[in-house]
Amino acid sequence: MTTTETSADPVAAVRAWLEENWDPDLTVAEWWERLGLAGWSAPTLPTNAYGRGLSRSDAVAVQRELTAFGALGPPAGLGLLLAAPTIATHGTQEQIDTYVRDIVTGQRAWCQLFSEPGAGSDLAGLTTRAVQDGDEWIVNGQKVWTSLGQTADLGMLIARTNVDVPKHQGITWFAIDMHQPGVELRPLVEMTGHAMFNEVFLTDARVPNDAVIGDLNSGWAAANTTLQHERAGLGAGGGSGGGGGAMPGTVAGQLELRAGDLVPQRPAGTATKAGPARTSGATMLTELARGLGKNTDPGVRQDLARLHTLDAIGRFNSQRMKATRAAGGDIPGMANISKLLMSDVVRLSRDLGLRLLGPSGMLHGYTKEQRAALDAATGNPMLALVTGTALYAQAPPIYGGTDQIQRNIIGERALGLPKEPNNDKTMPFSELPKNQ
Ligand SMILES: Cc1cc2nc3c(=O)[nH]c(=O)nc-3n(C[C@H](O)[C@H](O)[C@H](O)COP(=O)(O)OP(=O)(O)OC[C@H]3O[C@@H](n4cnc5c(N)ncnc54)[C@H](O)[C@@H]3O)c2cc1C
Repeated sequence: MTTTETSADPVAAVRAWLEENWDPDLTVAEWWERLGLAGWSAPTLPTNAYGRGLSRSDAVAVQRELTAFGALGPPAGLGLLLAAPTIATHGTQEQIDTYVRDIVTGQRAWCQLFSEPGAGSDLAGLTTRAVQDGDEWIVNGQKVWTSLGQTADLGMLIARTNVDVPKHQGITWFAIDMHQPGVELRPLVEMTGHAMFNEVFLTDARVPNDAVIGDLNSGWAAANTTLQHERAGLGAGGGSGGGGGAMPGTVAGQLELRAGDLVPQRPAGTATKAGPARTSGATMLTELARGLGKNTDPGVRQDLARLHTLDAIGRFNSQRMKATRAAGGDIPGMANISKLLMSDVVRLSRDLGLRLLGPSGMLHGYTKEQRAALDAATGNPMLALVTGTALYAQAPPIYGGTDQIQRNIIGERALGLPKEPNNDKTMPFSELPKNQ
């Protein structure tokens, strides 16, 4: 059910609400309880799911107002971005009251247990099995690339519940408790030096029957809702659910901190009534080029202009989408195009940033102390930002569906090109050749 609140000016409404309710001396948990139950944590959700039925662009304006007001934003992470809209769409009212309430108030953190060693782009080829045992399901299998699994209370799990039907028809979406003996996490350290990802081993893990979201064996539809929100959020540069500045859940340990202490500090003059001033990558790299005396190099100038152009195209696309949506229309493939554009922006930012830095771009501080030492040695405080961006630049073209997969989707669904021939829509999963 989608309920839409027809508030003429959501920004004025949230500002009035903040005047009454924001109190930096509340704990994070107390503040998120107020914010979430008033519908301001995830205002795009329908009103029966702790939202206000706002459009994405109105929700972005609300988020900006929260920041400009100096209040702590909503809980960060995948619960708000992915689990809440999926459960709001496919769950029962009881499930919404159990899970979504705890997401918008930051009580529980979520991770996404989708990818497997043999099922990433071909997600519907997953082999993790869930077998019914009375009122429960017993789950066995392995997931991988599970971001923030180490701080998650619950997981969005997709598992195979029927092998005798074509692969998309035998999958179920579960809410699984991550704090149980059958769930083992092994962190994977990335070249950035962080261990954001995990391998997750599920060995006789248990999920109650009432944690099946949507119908049994209809998990592919629910998973697609999750993925649509992932792509839309990523194309928008991280998503409306990602920018809260504080981590939800029982493991991250932030719920009992003072809310006012977690409000991100912005340098004086960078926040306006209309929200924080937006500093694009092109602007920062232009400053870096100027500081290093390389802004007269024709090749550098060309790449800076290209980066600026890509940034502007991204903004125009989102304005065009906003106007089309407001008129009741849609632009097929726009979420995929936005994600591809983001990949181009991070790749070009990486290459240009490293080119500007020259040999010092080979140095990266993995700890605070190392970064301080590098700042002192090079006299360039932007070095860590550029090398950090360069090391992470491999990720956006992969997560949320690789660039190649975005192009496939645009080709097939937006341009109507023929699909690659295969029989996986008709042949039972048990008879299909497997990746592993
Ligand atoms: C930073 C980051 C965070 C992530 N977080 C999570 C998470 O929290 N939870 C989760 O479940 N997953 C997560 N992932 C996993 C991510 O969704 C997968 O990595 C992604 O879907 C690609 O799958 P794969 O790695 O198995 O690559 P593969 O599917 O094996 O692809 C390998 C290569 O083959 C290409 N390819 C594959 N199939 C086709 C095709 N049909 N046509 C053309 N080319 C093709 C791909 O584009 C790629 O270049 C994360 C990944 C990253 C990088």
